[in-house]
Amino acid sequence: MIQDNLIAIRQELPPEVKLVAVSKFHPVEAIREAWAAGQRVFGENRPQEFARKVAEVAAWLRGRDSDIRAIPLEGAQGVTAHEVPRDEVEWHFLGHLQTNKLKLVLPYAALVQSVDSAHLLDAIQDWGKANDRLISVLLELHIGAEQTKQGFKEEEILDILFRADKYKNVRFCGLMGMATHTDSEDDIRADFARIADFHAYLRDLFPELTDFRELSIGMSGDWRIALDYGATIVRIGTAIFGERQY
Ligand SMILES: *Cc1c(COP(=O)(O)O)cnc(C)c1O
Repeated sequence: MIQDNLIAIRQELPPEVKLVAVSKFHPVEAIREAWAAGQRVFGENRPQEFARKVAEVAAWLRGRDSDIRAIPLEGAQGVTAHEVPRDEVEWHFLGHLQTNKLKLVLPYAALVQSVDSAHLLDAIQDWGKANDRLISVLLELHIGAEQTKQGFKEEEILDILFRADKYKNVRFCGLMGMATHTDSEDDIRADFARIADFHAYLRDLFPELTDFRELSIGMSGDWRIALDYGATIVRIGTAIFGERQY
């Protein structure tokens, strides 16, 4: 099932677009199944669950323990960053991140896609400096109609990027956004057009930010539309793993 879903999506996805398999709320067995089908990039949105899965998958990949259920669930504490085999699996963090949870996420995340406040960005910079690490991030732009969705306004992102050199331990890799949850394709297109235009505008305005290339838009219901707007990363959960059991 998971394997068929991945193959079908991959067939439609241009090879240069990165597919993040959003495994939140699904068991590690589902991740292993996707991995066996060739998927290497996974996304999670809750720090504790993220750290636990990083540790379990790392242990599994190193063959330290053939039965992953035997590994305690206390999180990734037992695994140091260099032990996570990045060429074999790449983890993205996609959810709201509180500053007191950074140590569960930053040692292991190849990309933090969901930076949604200056406060969080400052804390990431401090953590990166203290740990001598360069943290790759996307800035989340609020594009959907929902009040509750996280994300910056355009002017807040401008404000940050004008001060980008202050963030020496942060690599600004682009924008992430979630379109309005709606059946109206026109509304979804309007959301994606807005973030794509803003992304292009920022790339013109800040040519010195050479890493600011990524546009992470598109989920299970709208990733085909996102391709029309230049998505470089799509984040797909349900269409790969099935419905989540909350
Ligand atoms: C859960 C989630 C996804 C995946 O959603 P699906 O509709 O299941 O594909 C993508 N992006 C973010 C930020 C998410 O939280």
